[in-house]
Amino acid sequence: MQILETINTVTRAIEGAAAYFKHPFTSAVILAGGIGSRMKTVEHTDSAAVTKQFLALDGEPIILRTIRMFEECPIVDEIILVIREEERALYPPLLSRAGIKKVKKIVPGGETRQDSAYAGLLAVDRDCAFIAIHDGARPLITPEQITAVAKEAYRIGAAAAASRVKDTVKITEDAAYVKETPDRAQVWAASTPQMFKVEEYRASVYLGREKKLSVTDDCGLVEAVGFPVKLVDIGYQNLKITTREDLYFAEAILKMRREAEDAAAK
Ligand code: C5P
Repeated sequence: MQILETINTVTRAIEGAAAYFKHPFTSAVILAGGIGSRMKTVEHTDSAAVTKQFLALDGEPIILRTIRMFEECPIVDEIILVIREEERALYPPLLSRAGIKKVKKIVPGGETRQDSAYAGLLAVDRDCAFIAIHDGARPLITPEQITAVAKEAYRIGAAAAASRVKDTVKITEDAAYVKETPDRAQVWAASTPQMFKVEEYRASVYLGREKKLSVTDDCGLVEAVGFPVKLVDIGYQNLKITTREDLYFAEAILKMRREAEDAAAK
């Protein structure tokens, strides 16, 4: 067991080093500009309203865990944080205490997620060749999964983390009356990161703004222009912390991962 674990660790290190030396300049935009209204209990301190990204998951703020996953990913060259301006003062101490080095800019978000992603796009380095957009509220992503999405984006131009749906999905008309049932084998749930060749993404964003397209993910814009997007199956653990119960599910997933690591190390 121990030999297997050592081989796995060495393989991961070699893959990480290879990805680091070969990859095009990649900027990660982490979105933390939402207020998390569906969390119900937004907590207040004297100085600021603290939103869901600062709630503790396994002893550290959700947003810090998310940032750390990108910090530890060898293909990520810089991180742009898109935040709520009211929370700006909370970031520098958090980042310096955790030894985070890749955050290059912290910019204010907009009214919608789409506006916040646009603010992130405007802030990337001029050398940026690929851009990854990630929900700050998805702290369970891993550096290996980010790399897996990046590999497909580098090959095709656009790729997104996703998973095959387990449930049968229903499309409704109004008042929850079913209109149709798509073939489950063809239905995926898209999550983040979503990663794009920056010129493709930029062109899609500008076209989307011109046509006033409203989308809930970044692939939506790129698809609307007609660029191909590859989905990368990353399984079922990349939760978006949206409601209180998600925090409990996320804690359970982290516990499960720790137990698997401990068992592999024995
Ligand atoms: O609202 P939704 O669940 O789609 O939010 C996904 C991510 O986008 C969250 O991490 C949230 O902080 C971010 N967001 C943002 N700016 C907004 C709304 C959401 O950065 N105006």
